[in-house]
Amino acid sequence: MADKVQRIGVKLAAALADADGDRGTIQNAILLSLPPKERARVLSKSEFIPLPARTRLAEMAEPIEFCYFLNSGVVSIIHVMTDGKSVEVGLTGKEGFIGLPLIVGYSTSPTRAIVQIEASGYKLRAQDLKNALRTCPKLDEGLHRYSQELALQAIQIAACNRLHEVDERLARWLLMSQDRVGKSTFQLTQEFISHMLGTRRASVTVAAGILQKAGLITYSRGQVTIENRAGLESAACECYEEINDQIARWHRDSR
Ligand SMILES: [Zn+2]
Repeated sequence: MADKVQRIGVKLAAALADADGDRGTIQNAILLSLPPKERARVLSKSEFIPLPARTRLAEMAEPIEFCYFLNSGVVSIIHVMTDGKSVEVGLTGKEGFIGLPLIVGYSTSPTRAIVQIEASGYKLRAQDLKNALRTCPKLDEGLHRYSQELALQAIQIAACNRLHEVDERLARWLLMSQDRVGKSTFQLTQEFISHMLGTRRASVTVAAGILQKAGLITYSRGQVTIENRAGLESAACECYEEINDQIARWHRDSR
């Protein structure tokens, strides 16, 4: 009986997603981890939308009107200084969610979130998420767990930006992006990378040159191709592995 209910729930969720033009392919890890009833509840209030590169999903100090369960692509979490300089403090994709302050009743965003590689996601009004949280304990747990994972990234990236070389950081960052998009070629301008890494464009040119010369990537006209994944892992600083290892430990804890 429980099995049957679950099958119906999954079908319902798929049908709802289908209605939104998604063809039922839910890839967001938080949504996938929910019991069918909770997932259907969230999807019934969501709109599935494409999120082109450069779309801004949240802005520092501004009210959060909408939140997003990302289904594909890469979104950068960025801190902007008063002089306009910015640096990436986190990166998310199909494992993640934009709008975390809402889960503890906060209503403004501490960071900017901007689509970096063409994405898609389920968009909800902030109030609809808050309402859903009241009756969806697994959703609440999933979002709290994800907030820990994003905080872990911010801690590691803070250390990384201060202590590691630009080419190691660029390698780390390309690996993190590839993990999310699942393909080895993506569009990225040098200017964008320099904002992400909080470094000058000239440093990005040098760093990309080092990786290219080693045969790990090719980079031209704003398009990066990862040619040698294993080599890029060796070239990246320890931060890539540190983040993944800790998240894997947490996921083992929660089984
Ligand atoms: Zn590092």
